[in-house]
Amino acid sequence: MQVVSTRDAECRRSAEQAVLEGIAPDGGLFVPELFPSLDLTAAYNKANAGYQQLCAYILGMYFDLDGQTLIRIAEGAYAEFSDPHVVPLHKLDGRTAMMELYHGPTLAFKDLALQALPRLMKAALAKTGQKENVLILTATSGDTGKAAMAGFADVERTAIQVFYPEYGVSAMQKLQMATQEGVNVAVCAVNGNFDDAQTGVKQMFEDRTLRDAVRKAGYSFSSANSINFGRLIPQVAYYVYTYAKLVADGTIKAGDKLNFSVPTGNFGNILAAYYAMKMGLPVGKLICASNSNNVLTEFFESGVYDKNRTFFKTMSPSMDILISSNLERLLFELCERDSKQVRVWMDDLSDKGSYRLPDPLREEVRKTFYADFCTEEDTREAIRNIYAQYDYLMDPHTAVAVQVLGKYRRATGDDTPCAAVSTANPYKFPQDVLFSVNGERTDDAFNAAQRLSECTHTSIPPQISELKTKPVLHNHAVEKDGMLSAVQGFLDRLRKE
Ligand SMILES: *Cc1c(COP(=O)(O)O)cnc(C)c1O
Repeated sequence: MQVVSTRDAECRRSAEQAVLEGIAPDGGLFVPELFPSLDLTAAYNKANAGYQQLCAYILGMYFDLDGQTLIRIAEGAYAEFSDPHVVPLHKLDGRTAMMELYHGPTLAFKDLALQALPRLMKAALAKTGQKENVLILTATSGDTGKAAMAGFADVERTAIQVFYPEYGVSAMQKLQMATQEGVNVAVCAVNGNFDDAQTGVKQMFEDRTLRDAVRKAGYSFSSANSINFGRLIPQVAYYVYTYAKLVADGTIKAGDKLNFSVPTGNFGNILAAYYAMKMGLPVGKLICASNSNNVLTEFFESGVYDKNRTFFKTMSPSMDILISSNLERLLFELCERDSKQVRVWMDDLSDKGSYRLPDPLREEVRKTFYADFCTEEDTREAIRNIYAQYDYLMDPHTAVAVQVLGKYRRATGDDTPCAAVSTANPYKFPQDVLFSVNGERTDDAFNAAQRLSECTHTSIPPQISELKTKPVLHNHAVEKDGMLSAVQGFLDRLRKE
């Protein structure tokens, strides 16, 4: 299908081309020209045939690729997942299911999209006949970086460089990135926060001199961040799959509404749920759960998006974000696809750091979205209580979704069944999880993992234990204004290979 830029209705591309470009030349994000409509009966059948079948079905609604290619992409993407269901559901009680998205190679939900993206890119290179290879620049708040490198490592005709905030990721996240193998990967720490890294990457995409240098080296830029259309669509699949599975096991009846509670940072994950709803999935409320960086809570409450605020480092670092990129795609739908209006808001955001939604639109968005946040203490409490009550261990990001779901139910009395989105394995954050469960503190992440395993009788995933002995291959760190020369250095390296 065709996609258009959120900032210019005239800027149109094929979905395959959009995956290769990552972001529109005007700085906008690519969105589908229209939402295909979901045939729920077909979706139930596909889901029963397996996650890969359903995923290929959803991808095929957006990408003009043949059936065999689609199945190959889906099967390849989820081959390394440790659970045969890919996205297993864990019932806490009759109306709450944990939707576990962390069984991929890097133990975070990012794998669902980032194992599919390189395969989609390969198919897009073949389909469009693009001659240049693809150079991916990506900012990460912790999990994207590792998942993107794991997806792209040694994939022909691609190279990837990742920038992460030096003091803004967990010890395990940092080690996961520093030990990544592959001739076509590079990792660089930035002395700043995630927004600095993300802004730096966006500026480099717009830097003409750099673009020329990249082209001369035989590459074109793309992104593996959730602004890439190719990340969004694979994420739609797990919302449809979860719905179908809950119908199959009798938790809901076909056609009943289902709520989703999503721990949110860059608004990519929850936006995929919104897209599923636009396609016809019976969604009740989308609960947007934030940590202390509650810019989205305030936005849904007051209609004002204001990034001028204190930045908090929390135990859910992948949500420590003040500029939530994918919100732009929601704004586009809200104002009935008025790209001029979106441009005004985005210009206000970059000039003044804020913009305001008119009251009628704020009322409109609140029909679908409910937003709240939780403090660090709330997060610890959720981990402790859910473990004590259900013997179920959650990572801090997931805990935010569960805590905010509780707040939602108390505030509204809405008892609709809900899937809470579980985005990371708790062993990615062993110190905070251990402290939350039983008050033990240790400075060493591996010690914490060991203690956590002993206390909770759960096992440490091999991807975590192996980090202890894997050689560190990357230790490059730069100031904010050093990102450009880091890319130039990487280009030199690629040219020599
Ligand atoms: C990226 C991430 C999030 C936030 O997802 P967005 O799509 O950025 O809203 C939540 N939890 C974990 C573990 C993540 O890695």
